[in-house]
Amino acid sequence: MSRRTETLPLLAPTPGVERSLVVHRYGREGARPKVYLQAALHADEWPGLMALHHLLPLLDDADAAGRIVGEIVVVPYANPLGMDNRLGGIVSGRYAYDGSGNYNRDWADLAPLVKDRLNGPLSGDVAADVTRVRGALREALDDLPDRTPTMQWRKTLMRLSADADHVLDLHCDGEAEPHLYANEARAGTAMTLAQAMGIGIVLLEEEAGGGAFDTAPVELWWRLAEAGVAEAEHLPAVCFGATIELRGKNDVSDELGRQDAAGLMRFLARIGALASGAADGLTPPPDGLSTAYRLDAVDTVNAPIAGLVAYQRPLGAMVEEGEVVAVLIDPAAVPGENRVEVTTAQTGRLFTYNEHRLVQPGDRLVKVVGDKPLGYRKKGSLLED
Ligand SMILES: [Zn+2]
Repeated sequence: MSRRTETLPLLAPTPGVERSLVVHRYGREGARPKVYLQAALHADEWPGLMALHHLLPLLDDADAAGRIVGEIVVVPYANPLGMDNRLGGIVSGRYAYDGSGNYNRDWADLAPLVKDRLNGPLSGDVAADVTRVRGALREALDDLPDRTPTMQWRKTLMRLSADADHVLDLHCDGEAEPHLYANEARAGTAMTLAQAMGIGIVLLEEEAGGGAFDTAPVELWWRLAEAGVAEAEHLPAVCFGATIELRGKNDVSDELGRQDAAGLMRFLARIGALASGAADGLTPPPDGLSTAYRLDAVDTVNAPIAGLVAYQRPLGAMVEEGEVVAVLIDPAAVPGENRVEVTTAQTGRLFTYNEHRLVQPGDRLVKVVGDKPLGYRKKGSLLED
């Protein structure tokens, strides 16, 4: 079956403006595993756009060769609302202009909605219950509110993705080494993904909090039991979701896009969405490249004052607890008092920088990941705004 490309209309924000999402569908609808991929949910994070640009022809080739086993849904740009948010020539990204907040927070808590439509206990027969929950989920998604452009856009993305077995949300950091976030309930799949894509840092959480897009369909499967649905405790962690941080905002090139697309193809083959076939033409990453860490072992080092940033260690450096990772320069202070040293609380790898070099108090400067859980990092509030 060949690719189907659809254009889904979004609510017009103003007269004379039309918005839409493009969706490419591969494989038979309802085939498993279903994999959903999207890029640039935060609107100003473009490496994922390049990765999916290079993935589509590979999927077309696999399709022509009859290698698509599951259902693969690709949304090559997830957020036309945010991509249109320009201020002074710059796409501001991340936060909606309509006051609804961070585009990747507060996605619907699906468990109470699904519970309402289940109307009674599950059976304890896992396969039958998974089918029944998915049916109730689709009904619940159809009933999500859609009275504003943002609500209708969120509902559209949720209806495309929430019943998938794998949800891959392609993001990036300011300046960074590649890393990914996933739930520890599916640590094995997270490592398979990281290894397929050559990603060295895997950040696993029990409960990140914040309602990130990829966590809504993942957490549904255990939140049903918490919501009081009888027999739901037998449900496995059906959905795997990952937020994949493809380096930094300006790491956009054909070469990196080809590399990431090849990595995604390797993952699709490893989870059985693609029948194995011809090699994708790029050498796979070496085994043992990826390391799993707890998300609460990431030190997010923030700026204590406003100032100009002088990083003291390169991206990827191994640093020690107490080590100076950056100096903030306060141009308003007198000489001798105008340099403030900033240290890390973690021993480990420095893997992100803020891309801006003039910061205000509270701005995140770097992230350092190691083995020691950090007391100030609390389960349920592990993501930044
Ligand atoms: Zn993002």
